[in-house]
This record gives sequence, structure tokens and C-alpha cells, in this order.
Amino acid sequence: MFVLLHIWKKSHDVKKKIPDIKCTLKDALNMSFLGDVKVFFTVLFTGFSGKPNAMSLLRGIIIVNAEWAARLVLFDDEEVKRAFRFTMGHEMTHQSGDYTFLEAFTKDRRFVNWVNEVHADYGGAQLAFDGNINNALLSVRYKKQDFQVDKDSQTHPSWRHREGYLKAGVFDMDLIKRIAGDAGCDNKALIDKVCNYFVPIKLRYE
Ligand SMILES: [Zn+2]
Repeated sequence: MFVLLHIWKKSHDVKKKIPDIKCTLKDALNMSFLGDVKVFFTVLFTGFSGKPNAMSLLRGIIIVNAEWAARLVLFDDEEVKRAFRFTMGHEMTHQSGDYTFLEAFTKDRRFVNWVNEVHADYGGAQLAFDGNINNALLSVRYKKQDFQVDKDSQTHPSWRHREGYLKAGVFDMDLIKRIAGDAGCDNKALIDKVCNYFVPIKLRYE
């Protein structure tokens, strides 16, 4: 209901007609790698934000915000579709692949959060684009546009960092150690555990 309101409001802002919402969103979610995972469009968590956002809420559930819905419905555009596909691949990787670490608000936690994000970017590129790094980079740049200030946070590296990590082309021990350095983590035992946890992912340039 509130998602419809957001789409309606945005259609006025960008002066576009609203096509069949249900059909368009169903088509947008037609990705075989989603498997049995349920995807919901909702204003939960990010409300009427103008930044597209998605998150893995629980195992088997991904929620996508109203802004994503509005862009998918109002812009029949390859750039939007590509970035959305990448986002879904990213969230699917979170669904199965995160390293679990319960400590909060420390540099160690920041490192683990960042590695999980970068791993999800690599997994997303694999799922969404069969490992094509260019499509992943274009998607990251599309998302970066919505942030006036691009900075590192406790939960995510900056888009600039994420782009740089993707450009490495391989998610492996070297990249994990580089992330540890950038995140300010020098807990060698933890870094080793994280390195051993993840299977390397190699992307490809076309
Ligand atoms: Zn993520």
C-alpha cells in the first residue's frame, strides 16, 4: 500500500505514467538464482527514502524498498535493471555466505562486516552476471550516484572502496587482508579464521 504511494508520488516527480505495477515487479524478479527465497517490496526500515535499498531480513526472505520498486516500475531502463539484478545477487550471497561474528562496535566487527559486504559483491557478480566484473562495476557506480557523501561506516565500506575491491578481480586471502588493513583490524587470529572460512571467487573481464 505505502509502496504504491511512493510509486505514485515519484511518478508525479518524474512525470511518468505508471504501467502495470504487479506485472512489472514480477518481471523484475524473474531471476532463476532467487530460488525459493521470497522477495517483498516494503517501506519497512527505509520508508520513503529516495535511495534504493534491499536487505536480507531472515533466511529465505529479502526485502526491497519502495524506491527500488518505483525505479523498476517507472524506468524501463537497462541501467536500473542491471543494478537491481546485482543487488539481488548480493543479497542472495548474504543469505547463505556470511561469516557470523557476534561482537559489536569493534574494529574486528567492522572488518567482518566489510568482508561480508565485499564477499556479497563478488557473489552477486557471480550470480547476476556469471562473474562479469564490468557489469558489477557499472552496478556499484549506479548505486554510488545516490550518495552525496561516500564514506566508510561500521557496517559497509564506502562505494569507492567497494569499487576498488571489485577491481582486484579475485576475492581471496590477499583481498581479505587488504580489507582488514582498511578497516583497522589487526586481530591476526580472526583474520586467519575469516580467510579459511571463505572459498575464493574469481571474476572475469570480458
Ligand atoms: Zn550487503
